[in-house]
Parts: sequence; structure tokens; C-alpha cells
Amino acid sequence: MAFTVEQGSPAAPPLDFSALERPELEDAAVALGLPRFRGRQIFQWIHQRGASSFAAMTELPLPLRQELAARGSIPEPALDQKQISSDGTTKFLLRLADGRRIEAVYIPDTPAQTFCISTQVGCAMACAFCLTGKMGLVRHLTAGEIVGQVRVLARETGLAGTAFNIVLMGMGEPLHNYDATIKALRILTDAQGLAVPPRRITLSTVGVLPGLQRLAEEPIMPNLAISLHATTDEQRDVLAPINRKYKLQELMDACRAFPLRRRSRITFEYVLLNDVNDTPDDARRLTRLLDGIQAKVNLLPLNEAEGIPFTRPSDERVNTFAAILAERGVTVSVRKSRGRDIRAACGQLLVETPKAHT
Ligand code: SAH
Repeated sequence: MAFTVEQGSPAAPPLDFSALERPELEDAAVALGLPRFRGRQIFQWIHQRGASSFAAMTELPLPLRQELAARGSIPEPALDQKQISSDGTTKFLLRLADGRRIEAVYIPDTPAQTFCISTQVGCAMACAFCLTGKMGLVRHLTAGEIVGQVRVLARETGLAGTAFNIVLMGMGEPLHNYDATIKALRILTDAQGLAVPPRRITLSTVGVLPGLQRLAEEPIMPNLAISLHATTDEQRDVLAPINRKYKLQELMDACRAFPLRRRSRITFEYVLLNDVNDTPDDARRLTRLLDGIQAKVNLLPLNEAEGIPFTRPSDERVNTFAAILAERGVTVSVRKSRGRDIRAACGQLLVETPKAHT
């Protein structure tokens, strides 16, 4: 063989190359007795050129490709099903190596091209109006599985190599799967990989406070969206149960302290539930909560679903709520719901399991 590759211990577990950051891959190359630049090349092949097998890495000498294949693999979520909405939104049902399934969504022309990806199978946060929350947490995704969704969607939509946005707004709570999420962001933003600029990435969280505080210290700065949904602890305790642990005031203080890039703002998502949290009083309290925060508000009129005990407010109620914010100088937008006909809209991601139907 043209390459001397050090023998690892016989029990060395197979490597998941899809979950390695570039420096880790470079270290792995060195550990295999290869020059460091080979690690970078493999990283480029996986993340820039979308290779899902070593056989595809035609720049690498054949014996090396064979050796790498013997040492590990590049697992990728498999496309189980693709559903295209009348508005062009496309929902991808993806199957992971262990057979678990997740959903990821392509939202075209907003005007940007956006990939909405998942960070967990299911979710532990149990927000009262969210279908994914009904599943409970099945498991965390690995960094490789988070990044893999982007690779599959970029390939499937033909957008590989173009500028697109990524929102961590699919299934799961990103800050409940902190390490894998941040690792995925390091891989996605790496200049040798997909090189997605952090300003094109939005991390949405219901407010897992320790995670938010850690995120404030990270060198990578994605945009931040906070799923707020209520203006009193009493109400938020019910709608977003994480609030029983981390109270509104603590959450708002953490937001106030959160470092923002110049000219950037924190987005506050607020699901409007008819006659529950959509009154003029709620709107006025929301304005006061946001005082002193570089904020914008994104209103999400509820996407109704069976099993969700709330209704969507009328357009008139939504407009009144938005107008109160706007009058008080708060930047506000109403999220246009995309892909509702294929249940790809916010809070509608749920992979049917027998458990979910019982
Ligand atoms: N767990 C993170 C990421 C999910 S983002 C978070 O909570 O931010 C998905 C967004 O859709 C959240 O703002 C969520 O509150 C919202 N959402 C959930 N169910 C919804 C529904 N039925 N209608 C509209 N928006 C919903």
C-alpha cells in the first residue's frame, strides 16, 4: 500500500466523519498517520462538495479512500419523503441511522431561501400549543445529523453553493442540545465547508437560561430569536412550561445582557392564541417587557391542529395587537404561515408514531 496508516487499537469504534469539526478531522488525519491537510481535504469534500462516501473523494489516492472507509463512515439523513406545498414550501421527512425520523423544511423566497432544521427528535419543552411538544423528547441529534439536514436540503433544492439562510426552528429546543448545536454551527460556518455566514443563521429558543448565558460567550454569533408567547409568569408558566424554572424577568435580563452585532436585534416570537394572550393589555405589557432591549417582534397567529386546545385569532385581532406595538415604536411583523397545507408550518412538525396516536 502506498500509505502507511497507523493501526488504531482493534476495538477503536468506527468514526462518524460527518460530526467532526475541521480541526478534529485534521487531528484524526494525523492520528491515522496522514498529513494534516488530508483532514482539511476530507472536510471540504464532505461539507463543501457534499460527498457522502469516501469513494466520491476522487482527489484522494484510492488506498486512502479504502482505508478511510474501513475506519468510519459519513452518515447522512436519508430522504424518506418530500412534500411540496402549494406555496412552494417543501417538507422533508428524513430518516436517521437508527431509524428515527425528523423533519426539515425549505421555505423559498421570503425573499431569502431558508432551511428550517431540527435539533432533536421530538422536544422536551412541552409548549401548550406545539405539536412537536406532544411527542416528548425522543433523543438529541448529533452535530452530524444537524449539519446533514442542511447538506441534504441544499442538494435537493439545488441551492448548494448559493447563499441561503438557516433557522434552527424545526423540531427540538437547540439550547437543550447545546453542545451538538454549537458544534453544528462551527461546522456550518467553517470557511472550508459550507461557509454559511453566522448572520444568515438564526437560533430560536424558548429560553433555556443556562444555554442562553453560554451562547452569549460563544465566538460564533448567530441571530437570536426568543419564543416569548406571554407577558406574565402566570401565563407563561402554562404556555411555555420552561418558565416555571426560568422566570420572565430572568429571561429578559439575559436578553438585555446578550451581546449583539452592530445594528442587529433580538427577535421575539409571540404565538397569538385567540382570547388567551392576544388582548390589548397583553400588547401593552409586551411593549413594557421589551423596554431597553434591541428588539423586534414576530407575531405568529396560531397554526391550529387537532389536539391543540387553542384557536387562531381573527386577522382583526392580530392587526390590533400589531398596531399597539407599532404605535409604541416596537418593530413588528406578522409571520406569514407557509406550508400549512402539508403541515410544515411552525409548531406543526410531528412525525407520526403509533405512540402519538394513542
Ligand atoms: N424550541 C425552539 C425552536 C422551535 S421554533 C423555540 O421554541 O424557539 C418554532 C416556533 O414555532 C417557536 O416560536 C414556537 O413557539 C412556534 N410554534 C409552535 N407551535 C406553533 C403553532 N401551533 N402555531 C404557530 N407557531 C407555533
